[in-house]
Amino acid sequence: MRNEILKILRDKAPEPVSGEELARTLGITRTAIWKHIQVLKEEGYGIEAFTKKGYVLTSVPDKLLPPEIGEKLHTRFLGRHICYEESVVSSNEVLKKLAEQGAADGTVCVAEEQTGGKGRLRRGWFSPKGKGLWFSVLLKPSFLPQEAPKMTLLAAVAVVQAIREVCGVEAQIKWPNDVLLEGKKLVGILTEMSAEFGHINYLVCGTGINVCVPKEMVPEDLRASAISIADVTGGKVDRVALLARVLDYMELYYQEACQNGFGAVFDQWRKYSITLGKQVKVIAPDKTYVGTAVDIDSMGALQVRKEDGTVETVLAGDVSIRPVRGKGKYA
Ligand code: ADP
Repeated sequence: MRNEILKILRDKAPEPVSGEELARTLGITRTAIWKHIQVLKEEGYGIEAFTKKGYVLTSVPDKLLPPEIGEKLHTRFLGRHICYEESVVSSNEVLKKLAEQGAADGTVCVAEEQTGGKGRLRRGWFSPKGKGLWFSVLLKPSFLPQEAPKMTLLAAVAVVQAIREVCGVEAQIKWPNDVLLEGKKLVGILTEMSAEFGHINYLVCGTGINVCVPKEMVPEDLRASAISIADVTGGKVDRVALLARVLDYMELYYQEACQNGFGAVFDQWRKYSITLGKQVKVIAPDKTYVGTAVDIDSMGALQVRKEDGTVETVLAGDVSIRPVRGKGKYA
């Protein structure tokens, strides 16, 4: 009901809507309308009441509230169910629990803050309150479990395109799915899977985007390597608009991948890649070598041509890719 009240106020703003009109349209009492308005105000909506005229929506809160996101979404199923939390340990964990309870395909969990955000290989992701987009999406694809790692490349492409479009900054992708801005880490992506032999039950794809984390708030050990969008734009970034655009692109590319495979997604990935064509140092558990990153193959694995001309295929996993000092440095 509150969403409907909000929709009417939004459509009419800056004109007022009387309590009587709201009550009539929605088939509830004026007192019930008044109570809903109080709750909306507590959530942070600016709603002014003018005697004889009614209510005017004057501002919306700087929060990732589902009705605000819904207003800007163009998706068919992704983000049509949103679980919003002020604070979670990890949005991936929340969404995995919801998935086990039968949450719908495309459900999103978004939080203002994560107290134990996760990165790859059990590393942490710093997610301070109100300063970023910390969210996870639930997908139930029909493709095979071995295709799942490609989703992280897909997520990187969707995030980069949305950031470029909404914020006007040139984010780039370091293989496989690190999104960098001015050579520093802007985004972390972690995909987790529940699967049986030959069948994916669900994927949870978590993304953390540093939108406006003040430098002094960033833990000391990350300060040199991390960056926020606002560090570059200087101004305010509309978190809701950015999240909606990321979800739009995620659905677009996901549907393309489900129908026609990941070819088109990988072409976009190549366009935004900062790794291809560069000299890289591959640090694998069993060996370390230097070569040129020439392409990604149909699995999203990186192909590195070594100095002797042979090509090694590098799978994402416990492998670090470093730019080689002096030659082809990142950004
Ligand atoms: P990796 O970069 O090792 O593949 P992830 O993409 O999962 O792993 O990111 C986790 C790493 O990112 C952490 O080990 C930490 O160094 C760094 N990190 C954590 N939080 C942030 C943040 N908000 N911004 C930038 N880097 C971060």
